[in-house]
Amino acid sequence: MHRLDEETLQLEKAIVQYALERVALQPPPLDGPKSEAELSTLYGPNVTEEGIGGEEALRRFIEGYAPATLSSDHPRFLAFVPVAPTKASVLFDMVVSASCISGTSWLEAAGAIYCENEALRWLADLAGMPSTAGGTFVSGGSLANLSGLHAARQRSKERRNFERPDRWRVLSSREAHSSIASAASLMDLEVIYVPTGPDGKLTGANLDEVWAGLDDEVRASIVAVVATAGTTNAGLVDDLRSISTFTRINDLWLHVDGAYGGAALASKERWRFEGIEYADSLVIDPHKWLFAPFDAAAILYREPKYAKHALTQEAAYLDDINKAQEWNPSSYGYHLSRRVRGLPFWFSLATNGTKRYQEAIQASIDLARATVAEVERRDYVEMVTQPELSVVLFRRLGWGPEVYDRWSSQALKDGVGFVLPTEHRDEKVLRFCFVNPLTTLDDVRAILDSLAWDPRS
Ligand SMILES: *Cc1c(COP(=O)(O)O)cnc(C)c1O
Repeated sequence: MHRLDEETLQLEKAIVQYALERVALQPPPLDGPKSEAELSTLYGPNVTEEGIGGEEALRRFIEGYAPATLSSDHPRFLAFVPVAPTKASVLFDMVVSASCISGTSWLEAAGAIYCENEALRWLADLAGMPSTAGGTFVSGGSLANLSGLHAARQRSKERRNFERPDRWRVLSSREAHSSIASAASLMDLEVIYVPTGPDGKLTGANLDEVWAGLDDEVRASIVAVVATAGTTNAGLVDDLRSISTFTRINDLWLHVDGAYGGAALASKERWRFEGIEYADSLVIDPHKWLFAPFDAAAILYREPKYAKHALTQEAAYLDDINKAQEWNPSSYGYHLSRRVRGLPFWFSLATNGTKRYQEAIQASIDLARATVAEVERRDYVEMVTQPELSVVLFRRLGWGPEVYDRWSSQALKDGVGFVLPTEHRDEKVLRFCFVNPLTTLDDVRAILDSLAWDPRS
């Protein structure tokens, strides 16, 4: 099964043909989930002693399992944060798979890591981070946040000569992504939640107020302030300018989570991010709004040495890598073996040029603005907040929480779109998240029109 014989050559053709047809679909089918019970009746077992053969396995996937798997790049997939990979990035992702690159160390993957680092540099430059900044690509914003907080705690440890406080702590608002609380829990960090104003945006003044109430011991146990540059739920950017003033005055690590919103550094909304240049660690997911396929999140450090101290794994079999002075991505995230998952992003950036990225990101911001006008034109829907980036929150007048759910699953079944309700200040509302430049205003209109639906019908 490791040789390319006649049978595998046939399979190669079939797989590449299917992959290329999938890439060419415009749009791809939205599809929808099926229950485990339904899926289990489709075919017999697939994993058997003798194997079912590639042709049959491919047929079952294409005909049975793929239709039960949502296409996150469908232009009307507007839930969560969709993906919208460029053709170049998807095609090059196949090259990454075919090339069997271990992206762990410079020794193993110098050329590929050089390219990944070039893409990281573009992001660091957008943020205005110094030339010494660096990092790596991990699987997602969650792991990137975990890595950033590890580096932050490492700096605190080194500054205190490894003398432990009763607990390590972070300051964060409640609007931060769930992965911050999760990383804190994994690291046994206490999260001190900083109350924000009614708009939910964290500011330096909010931090000052909480800081004033903390004693010196607690202050000294705080490893980082977490700010969000584009909240997942509402697309709001915390006031990074005043936050970064606060962190500099108090000599605290600033961790900026821009997993979704960081891409807008390349848009006309760049001004909203002023202060981001002081980030000590910064997260931006290319698989969200930078048109790369899953799974790629960038973690960047202002002073990478803390990440290196915290995250480098030590073992006899790693000595050759660790004693080298070269850039080993394994030292900058919580991972060892890794796919060079930044390479499809790099290839697409190199292919298309950064200007087309700026335009494609701006398109979603413009669409969010145009969506506001469409909402205002209809008497049965109403805006909840004004969008800053590309998330739009609005309500359907007269609907209770349960009606939202019914409409949402019906809309997916009918192929109208994939839109999920969310909560905003204890109210169930609807949320669009735009990152796909192929989503049109007509798509938005069709979904809004379907909200005229009478749930009793
Ligand atoms: C999506 C998101 C994350 C988590 O990223 P994953 O890639 O899903 O792990 C973290 N922070 C923010 C702000 C996000 O939007």
